[in-house]
Amino acid sequence: MESEVSHEPKLEPEVFITVSDVMEYLFCKRFTYFMYCLGIPQHEEKRYKVLKGRDLHEAREKVNKSYIRKKLQCVKKDVSVYLASRRYHVKGEVDEVLFLEDGTAAPLDYKFAEFKDTVFRTHRYQSALYGLMIADTYGVEVKRGFVCYTRSNHVVKEVNLREKDFKRARALVNEVLKIIQEGFYPEATKYKARCVDCTYRNICV
Ligand code: SF4
Repeated sequence: MESEVSHEPKLEPEVFITVSDVMEYLFCKRFTYFMYCLGIPQHEEKRYKVLKGRDLHEAREKVNKSYIRKKLQCVKKDVSVYLASRRYHVKGEVDEVLFLEDGTAAPLDYKFAEFKDTVFRTHRYQSALYGLMIADTYGVEVKRGFVCYTRSNHVVKEVNLREKDFKRARALVNEVLKIIQEGFYPEATKYKARCVDCTYRNICV
């Protein structure tokens, strides 16, 4: 993986943001400002919900195990892995880390969502962020990720992770950190429909 991402901020290794912070930022950059610069928490549930406890257990049961083993050529897996990369300043819990026959590893993430023709941009970058952390933590190459869509009959989709995806994922982390460090007010989302039920709509001008 390339070692340089433009505008990389100077940071202590102990500085971390979470994968869901990046997902919120992708939804609207101002979330980062309101949450971190003004310290106003969201009063609603996170938009990028992770499956917890029983739901996750059920989802795992429903995904065909021989499919994971044969089709994804998985030889071993770790489940519910908490990852924190001092190198990339990001942390988060990935549902599964799959170790594949070809010697690479891949994140598998369960989404309470339908699959609609293509893997969402947010899911791609989430996979890339987990991929960066897996590579950093385990010292293995990551070339792909997998997303399980629990509302589409638990279909598992492969995300081919290229260098540009990792680079963009790192750039996103840096963009979030830049807002937190410099405290500037970022542009609003251009998708106005997102403002309708937004926690911050009364203070966002
Ligand atoms: S009201 Fe709209 S622009 Fe403001 S934070 Fe919410 S989603 Fe972003």
